Amino acid sequence: MSDRPTAVVTGASSGIGAATARALAKAGFHVVLGARRVDRCAEIAAEIDGTAVRLDVTDRESVAAFAAAVPDCRLLVNNAGGAKGLEPVAEADEDAWRWMFEANVMGTLRVTKALLPALLASGDGHIITVTSIAAVEVYDNGAGYTGAKHAQSVLHRTLRGELLGHPVRLTEVLPGMVETEFSLVRFEGDEERAAGVYQGLTPLTADDVADVIAFAATRPSNVNLDQIVLKPRAQASATRAHRNI
Ligand code: NAP
Repeated sequence: MSDRPTAVVTGASSGIGAATARALAKAGFHVVLGARRVDRCAEIAAEIDGTAVRLDVTDRESVAAFAAAVPDCRLLVNNAGGAKGLEPVAEADEDAWRWMFEANVMGTLRVTKALLPALLASGDGHIITVTSIAAVEVYDNGAGYTGAKHAQSVLHRTLRGELLGHPVRLTEVLPGMVETEFSLVRFEGDEERAAGVYQGLTPLTADDVADVIAFAATRPSNVNLDQIVLKPRAQASATRAHRNI
């Protein structure tokens, strides 16, 4: 037990989630880090005096066991997710689509439902969901990911209305290009293709996004930052970036 308020970060084993766990610990939270690669979470937890708990957001039982290990929760960061593939709809891979909808949409739904009673009981709860600019834009070959991120965003924004009058804030963070393991996962370990995504420009870092999440989380309780869009200076939209190549 800790007298610090508890923050739960899903997908805390790498990228934005790992950086967010560190930033929230610095801001005074006791952080519970969840992901499938719990060994990685445990290393970060040891560094920040947090707690690592295995979590697969696509698995109902795993989410129930995770929630049971988190009796108190002031802040939930729904970050677990990602993309698989980049194909036109005509060639869509149903398994990749199922993975994206399960991880981004159903995962956010499951974890949010499981922790909502604790967030409400805290008297000052906050749900921060990491969607993407893919939640507000569409691009060729990206319908599986943009569709999932749109749906995740709708889930989150609907809660903003449904929880009016209750002590829970809701913040959606919509990043553009961030250099993490995201593209490696999207292109199934193809390092060259993943590196190409960030070629000729300076992308956001995971720490850049974590800073923004920690800022939103540390505003006074009456201040609700509803949506925060952040992109590299060199990126104007999901399909327009300036590259020095
Ligand atoms: P990342 O480095 O690949 O991190 C993804 C995280 O999600 C990992 O910790 C992974 O952990 C976790 N995850 C995936 N499936 C999971 C599952 N079934 N259960 C639990 N955890 C799961 O990529 P990232 O860029 O930090 O991505 C974080 C979030 O930001 C994602 O929602 C992504 O869509 C979003 N985003 C990324 C970018 C970008 O350009 N990088 C831009 C906008 C939005 P395990 O594999 O250990 O389970």
